[in-house]
Amino acid sequence: MFETAKRIAEPLGNVDQLFLAAPPSLSRVILYYAVTTVAIVGITALVYFTGGIAFVYAHAMYLPILVAAALLGIRGGVFAGVLAGLALGPYMPVLVTEGLMQTPLNWLFRVGSFVLIGSFAGALRTYLRRQLFWSAQMARTDSGTMLPNALAFRQSAEPILRNAGDDGASVFVLAVGNEQDLINSFGSAIGDVILEELAGRVNERLSDLTHFPAVLRSRELSFIVPAGNGEAVHAPLLRSLLAEPVPFEDLPVYADVSIGIAKAPVHGEELEELISRARIAATAAQVRGSRYEVYHEGLDRTSREKLTLLGELPGALRSGQVCLHYQPKINPKNWQICGAEALLRWQHPDRGWVPPAAFINEVEDTRLIDQVTEWVLRESVRQARIWREMGFHVPVAVNISARNLLRPDITFLVEHCLNVENVPASGLELEVTERALMNDVDAGLKTMVGLGDLGVQLYIDDYGTGHSSLAYLRDLPVHALKIDKSFIGTMARKPRDREIVASTNELCHRLGMKCVAEGVEDLGTLTMLGEMSVDYAQGFAIAEPCAPEALTELFRARGTTG
Ligand code: C2E
Ligand code: CA
Ligand code: CA
Repeated sequence: MFETAKRIAEPLGNVDQLFLAAPPSLSRVILYYAVTTVAIVGITALVYFTGGIAFVYAHAMYLPILVAAALLGIRGGVFAGVLAGLALGPYMPVLVTEGLMQTPLNWLFRVGSFVLIGSFAGALRTYLRRQLFWSAQMARTDSGTMLPNALAFRQSAEPILRNAGDDGASVFVLAVGNEQDLINSFGSAIGDVILEELAGRVNERLSDLTHFPAVLRSRELSFIVPAGNGEAVHAPLLRSLLAEPVPFEDLPVYADVSIGIAKAPVHGEELEELISRARIAATAAQVRGSRYEVYHEGLDRTSREKLTLLGELPGALRSGQVCLHYQPKINPKNWQICGAEALLRWQHPDRGWVPPAAFINEVEDTRLIDQVTEWVLRESVRQARIWREMGFHVPVAVNISARNLLRPDITFLVEHCLNVENVPASGLELEVTERALMNDVDAGLKTMVGLGDLGVQLYIDDYGTGHSSLAYLRDLPVHALKIDKSFIGTMARKPRDREIVASTNELCHRLGMKCVAEGVEDLGTLTMLGEMSVDYAQGFAIAEPCAPEALTELFRARGTTG
């Protein structure tokens, strides 16, 4: 039973194999031959009793020949052709009443014609059946990987789900998170190679899997196993199975696979519902870096909410629901303001203030981030111009995400924004997180160099939370490091964090860079930073992010460096 189910959904081999995969049963073959023989005998009798081969009834013989060819293929066609030819052959008179017999040439020619017609019709039938079978199989096959597709998955999974009984069943979705990066680096063929390899591994190692894992969409595999608690057994096994690198052109390639699981009947009774919930769980696993997640309602709510928010964001940008607040950076020694970081704020008509943390990661995963960054750049450079006109030459800092760096035209966009507002490049700072740089080092590096050439100041944001690689300090035109708030918040209590801050500050100065401490929440820490000669400090102890008008007041009260 398992064998059959597995074979039907297995990757396709060549056409012959496919065709042979569904031969008619022996009893049916015998029945078809018998019916053909009876029909031929019947028509022979008809020809004889209607007066012989000279009359029109002999043409009825085409019927059993064609039917035999249609049911049994070439062999059946030839069999019927020979039998019918002989039946209307040497013993069938031309005219029964006169006893006039056929010449051998006459009946031999007829045998030949019948055999030809039978074999031709049989061949046609074989060809058509192959074509039909092939198109039916292709409709169930993912063309890139030749693995079963979503349709085949439904056909295999529905019966398993229906027959699962009280034990239920678990739907697994395996999603490759870094497929785009892999395609960028190794070419488009790698996506299929990875899915094929993973499907093969799962099929080989999961003993109670009764069908081949199917490709649901470009970077996704899915399968179903009986027993709703399947995840307890399978997830740890899968985790180790999928963590192994995939060989591609003799190179071991790392595929970042996340596993999402939805169980029937608790998470849904319909297959579609289970697939979409397993998908949500896989996305959650990806975001959390947890490798696998079992679906629960909270995941659905957050992902739905976030998707709705994403859908609303472009309209919100246009309609003025989104604005920028600015958080000042000061010199910790004299409290003079030497910069302001632009931070997105969204006044949602139903939800009230939506913090960037509620949507920015999701936005960064989509092309929407280009739109958002463009808007933030235009808006903040415009604000920089307004402040400059008031006499406050304070640089404005904008957060740039990984995806922005993959677009070479970001350099033109930055240049354009500065030109439109007539703000010098020194009036703009760009903050790029370490993680953004890690994603695609070469592309990121190139864009950073281009941006540096414009004369804008480049900051590494959240320094200390990524790889803190010395390579980009050497290779990139970085002007400053922004030590992450997780170190600053604890440095007053933890000597080790204090040492990290002090030595990073020293590293910056030795390399001719500035050092910024973010997340300064108390005056004790601020004093400590001043004593260490950290260049700039930013945090709630100094000022929370606020509307530009409020910051203008602060500029007046505290003074600015520019
Ligand atoms: P970030 O770039 O690290 O920004 C600093 C975040 O820390 C801000 O949160 C700020 O309000 C918060 N913060 C400031 N001082 C303190 C402090 O003393 N203690 C603590 N605990 N937090 C402090 P916010 O505004 O919620 O932004 C969160 C993140 O969202 C930002 O982190 C940034 O990564 C992202 N983000 C904000 N605006 C933009 C934007 O325009 N574009 C992009 N790409 N990302 C943005
Ligand atoms: Ca930042
Ligand atoms: Ca930061």
